Amino acid sequence: QSGEAPEPLRRVSGNNYAPDNANSDRINATLLSLVRNEELDDMLQSMHDLERTWNHKFNYPWTFFNDVPFTDDFKQKTTAATKAKTSYHTIPKAHWDIPSWINKDLYAASKKALADKGVQYSEMDSYHQMCRWNSGVFYQHEALKDVQYYWRVEPKVHFFCGVDYDVFRWMQDHNKTYGFTLTLLDSPDSVRTLWPETLKFLADHPEHEAKNNAKGFLTEEKEKGHNQITGGYSTCHFWSNFEIADLNLWRSKAYTQYFEHLDKAGGFFYERWGDAPVHSVAVALFEDKSKVHWFRDIGYQHIPFFNCPNNGKCSGCEPGRFTDGDDWLNSQDCRNVWFKNAGMD
Ligand code: GDP
Ligand code: MN
Repeated sequence: QSGEAPEPLRRVSGNNYAPDNANSDRINATLLSLVRNEELDDMLQSMHDLERTWNHKFNYPWTFFNDVPFTDDFKQKTTAATKAKTSYHTIPKAHWDIPSWINKDLYAASKKALADKGVQYSEMDSYHQMCRWNSGVFYQHEALKDVQYYWRVEPKVHFFCGVDYDVFRWMQDHNKTYGFTLTLLDSPDSVRTLWPETLKFLADHPEHEAKNNAKGFLTEEKEKGHNQITGGYSTCHFWSNFEIADLNLWRSKAYTQYFEHLDKAGGFFYERWGDAPVHSVAVALFEDKSKVHWFRDIGYQHIPFFNCPNNGKCSGCEPGRFTDGDDWLNSQDCRNVWFKNAGMD
């Protein structure tokens, strides 16, 4: 074994992807997971799938985050699940805590009201904190200071298809800043004021709207009644449990100011704004739509949805399947709205 990657992986410069090769063809990127110690087995499942289908050839490092310290057991077992480097980081309290300007009484009342409407997880503080962290805080962590691209990986997801190119390098070479596999409708009650707040922000900052944006993806009504509840937002969003993106997107002036506006408005707590709709609204408004990429070829499942290509490289994933659930789940797919508004066939 020479340790060299086979063709065509050497096509870039010939510098192989061995985990310790400081001159490898890897670009500046990491796999990134926010995860709890109790989710160790589910994290190992995700790692095994992604290592088997892709990362064993490229050895991109794994960067793990947690709001409490990782256990030795978690560190040992995840380190053993990859040849690549792994690192473990505790999130500073200031990044995770509920911000001081959030009114406790209003928050308590809102949680109750949303729970009565059946909005999932609305009564769990940690869920609100997680959504806020994933929206606008994670990239401020010291461990990501010098990192440019990340691939977000949750515990308990599945990857089904062999992918034989360096996905991060592909993003860079093709001038892409955001990659997704699934796009869905959201619960309109969880984002009632997200669009109105966004419009206020745009009125103050019209300069941030990209010329060739994908606003129609956000405003075209897909599900009757949604746009009325949300003040004009379709609730279509990229499902961010899978996300391959350029951190400069979030570090931009546009997104920094946008997140600050949303954070002060309080909807991460008074409602249950998810990082998925927040990232999606920003991407569709502030980015040129040609920079957003659907990874049709990455077979993926986060319960209860699938992205299943028909390219002969997959196992365990029925081509074209979107969900193993009912008609209602099937109706949540926003991919056609994206293709229509992003000008792809
Ligand atoms: P869902 O996908 O919306 O059902 O939410 P998940 O429960 O999967 O949470 C999303 C991601 O955040 C997963 O990677 C979780 O492991 C992680 N996560 C959620 N809450 C917490 C938390 O309180 N602490 C830590 N460390 N991770 C969390
Ligand atoms: Mn999840």
